[in-house]
Amino acid sequence: MTGHSQAKEAGIFVRLVLLGAPGAGKGTQAAALAAHYRIPHISTGDIFRQNLSQGTRLGLMARGYMDQGLLVPDNVTEAMVADRLREADALAGFVLDGFPRTLPQADALEQMLAGWQAELTAAVLLAVSAERLVARLTARRVCPQCGATYHLAFHPPQTAGVCDRCGAALVQRDDDAAPTVRTRISVYEEQTAPLITFYRARSLLQEVNGEQPVDVVTATVIARLGGARP
Ligand code: ADP
Ligand code: ADP
Ligand code: ZN
Repeated sequence: MTGHSQAKEAGIFVRLVLLGAPGAGKGTQAAALAAHYRIPHISTGDIFRQNLSQGTRLGLMARGYMDQGLLVPDNVTEAMVADRLREADALAGFVLDGFPRTLPQADALEQMLAGWQAELTAAVLLAVSAERLVARLTARRVCPQCGATYHLAFHPPQTAGVCDRCGAALVQRDDDAAPTVRTRISVYEEQTAPLITFYRARSLLQEVNGEQPVDVVTATVIARLGGARP
């Protein structure tokens, strides 16, 4: 029996996919849900950015795509996620933030999980209007050290420019400049939005209004998933 199916036998698994446009709140909600369910928050964007800052081959390869707001090729991204999901902490569940982003990636995830006799708990869609997305992204600030996410107006840190969690200086992501933001939103509409139909067809889709305050969105997701910690 694989580790993944043992975790399932023990009943300690919540495996979530967060869907939503850039700026919908996936990173923010993934962090809160990971803390609530005590499962790892796996963000493909964060893994690419870590590789970039460490100058790895993967990072250098991903950079050109990320700077333009385009998707890194599926085979590269799928291999990276497969490696991450094989790590011990993911046996008890995970929240995936930013993966899958294409239909081939969704198929690849389904096959990986099937190979481990594991299933997704849900795909949570954070619904936010297009106008709101741009306002969120252009004033987003992130912590380069711990990955925490802030917003200058909607979710400011306690001390301006400083991460509440770890004290590092906050930065703006290069790809949060206005022209790249528009490309990323259209890439989402063309390549990622079809996943809504994919997960709805599997009865896994949970759509939540992502325009509510952060805490309300988190509480709504937890209630939809059945309330208390597993
Ligand atoms: P994503 O990972 O989907 O791109 P983020 O979690 O990084 O989205 O959120 C994008 C921006 O919007 C950040 O600046 C974040 O602080 C802010 N934000 C996230 N959720 C909300 C919310 N419910 N209300 C207002 N602002 C939010
Ligand atoms: P956001 O939540 O604002 O959309 P992310 O941090 O998730 O941004 O992703 C940043 C960039 O990393 C994407 O624009 C893309 O270039 C790359 N990336 C992240 N996840 C994937 C993925 N699943 N497939 C391909 N590229 C990805
Ligand atoms: Zn931090």
